[in-house]
Amino acid sequence: MNLLNVQHINTDLLIIGGGTAGCMAALFAKRAAPSISVTIAEKAHIRRSGCLAMGLNAVNAHLVTGTPEDYLDYVRHDNYGIVRDDLVLSIGKRLNSMTAEIERLGVPFPRTPQGGFVSRSPRSILMHGEHLKPLLADAVASAGVSVFNRSPVVRLLHNAHAEVCGALVCHLRTNEFSVISARAVMICTGGATGIYRPSNPGLARTKTWYCPYNAGAGLAMGLRSGAEMTSFEMRFVALRTKDVIAPTGTLMLGTGMRQCNASGATYTRQKEAMLGRKLTTCERLLFTIQEHRQGSGPCYVDISDLDQSRYDLLIESYLNMAPSIVLHLLKDIEQPLRRVEICGSEPCINGGHGMAGFWIDAHRRTTVAGLYAAGDAAGGAPKKYITGCFAEAQIAVEHMLSCEINGKSAATSADIEAALQEAARPLQAHGDLAFTEVEERLQKIMEEYAGGSTQNYETSRDKLLLARAYLEDLEQRSRAMAAATPHDLMRTYDTADRILLARVLVEHLLARRETRWPCYQTRLDYPLRNDLEFKVFINSRMQGDRITVCKRDPAPPYVCSPVEEA
Ligand SMILES: Cc1cc2nc3c(=O)[nH]c(=O)nc-3n(C[C@H](O)[C@H](O)[C@H](O)COP(=O)(O)OP(=O)(O)OC[C@H]3O[C@@H](n4cnc5c(N)ncnc54)[C@H](O)[C@@H]3O)c2cc1C
Repeated sequence: MNLLNVQHINTDLLIIGGGTAGCMAALFAKRAAPSISVTIAEKAHIRRSGCLAMGLNAVNAHLVTGTPEDYLDYVRHDNYGIVRDDLVLSIGKRLNSMTAEIERLGVPFPRTPQGGFVSRSPRSILMHGEHLKPLLADAVASAGVSVFNRSPVVRLLHNAHAEVCGALVCHLRTNEFSVISARAVMICTGGATGIYRPSNPGLARTKTWYCPYNAGAGLAMGLRSGAEMTSFEMRFVALRTKDVIAPTGTLMLGTGMRQCNASGATYTRQKEAMLGRKLTTCERLLFTIQEHRQGSGPCYVDISDLDQSRYDLLIESYLNMAPSIVLHLLKDIEQPLRRVEICGSEPCINGGHGMAGFWIDAHRRTTVAGLYAAGDAAGGAPKKYITGCFAEAQIAVEHMLSCEINGKSAATSADIEAALQEAARPLQAHGDLAFTEVEERLQKIMEEYAGGSTQNYETSRDKLLLARAYLEDLEQRSRAMAAATPHDLMRTYDTADRILLARVLVEHLLARRETRWPCYQTRLDYPLRNDLEFKVFINSRMQGDRITVCKRDPAPPYVCSPVEEA
């Protein structure tokens, strides 16, 4: 790669990650201030990148009935009392206008005979969203946004006031680096998968629930710049159809179909009757795992009662986002499958379904000056889904335009030099340690000691302490990772980022000495919820190479207190 030829680019607003939130942020910015320059640096290609790459069949956060306050109540209840009320409420207030934005892009929505949206629940409506990402990309191109595709951002850059003022980008097709200087920087790189061993082996290992190319780069860059993170320990585990990993909501929401065990008992219904309430999202997974434990698995969604028109609707919905399940359902066209096996996915961390990510303020500012975060990279507001990501992008852009686009001093040459040295290290490394070996080791450690799917998502102090030690050792050894091609270089960055995030995740899991969100976070040595001590956020920062963890009160002013040594 050509290290001597470093391009220098200036822009007003730099958006890192051109997925759902990133593309929409660029559109909002150009709509509000057409004269500013907006640049997206995207690791893949914005036409089909990130969580939306394959399309979606529903808007999962739309207020069919109820108020933004009802939405907050629901999210808080489902999350066992800990969410950032201010963030969730601000999202709730914008959800339906974000659905209107999706329609405006040209995405078709099925309609009732009366012309309304077709709802699956009080908060979810159907959409024909297979083409949503290409439509977003077209809108971005028409708005005059500069886009660098296949250009992963590697490091944030800082000026003499320790503000973030740009980023170092690696262009995979031209084999060059560039320094992008910006007045405001926004991280929209989503969450992170690949920290745990994927459920599917071999060539199918990229068939993960969360977008396999979201390696948590933005979170890792933020940590290296000193940003505070929240709630990594609340991992997200999706209950999905087995192997092909399609959404189970499509089978159950609004259809009356239910989860059942191998002998057909509808165990979730039984639990709901016993508890006298609806199950939370993580309980649907927990009780599935319990059926397996009791020898009553595998578990299924039984769809034999679906009539033909509903079955056709199901197939149509799946074609909008998960066509592989259609091949699975219809592999014997004479006898379409009527029981669909379900299981938990590999754990990932994200702030779209879960609430792991940057600790942000109401304007979506991170704790590092000049740096914003939105979408799955932003923490504290779970269940935001696509419309919530759009809402956060809009909130962040409004604030950036009101106070950041005024001028900022450029990155120091020492910072640029250090970033370049670090970024180029794998190209100059002697030896042949490949990222694949390091990644496998990382995933083995996390799987076995930090509550992977084969461990029923459970862990305990002593296992986590081993994970901590093994990860520190792996991080040291991974510094010898070598790359000969731009693609391998990018994968070494991904692997290094995942190791760092795994280290932080382990510290969060150690700090929360209770079990708050069964399966997402289960401590076998502390099996009960402990509201007295742990109805708090667990937050973390990097100080040099050390990760420090603290507890923050669940309500403003979010007072910080220390966490006991594990
Ligand atoms: C499988 C799945 C199904 C879902 N289904 C629904 C649904 O039906 N309805 C609903 O409302 N919501 C759904 N969601 C949630 C919703 O899609 C996500 O919350 C949302 O798309 C996340 O947006 P984002 O912009 O934060 O991340 P993404 O859209 O994932 O964007 C992140 C972008 O950052 C890029 N990137 C990563 N690293 C770098 C780097 N170093 N440099 C530059 N770019 C980088 C990635 O390539 C990607 O383009 C689903 C999510 C998943 C994973």
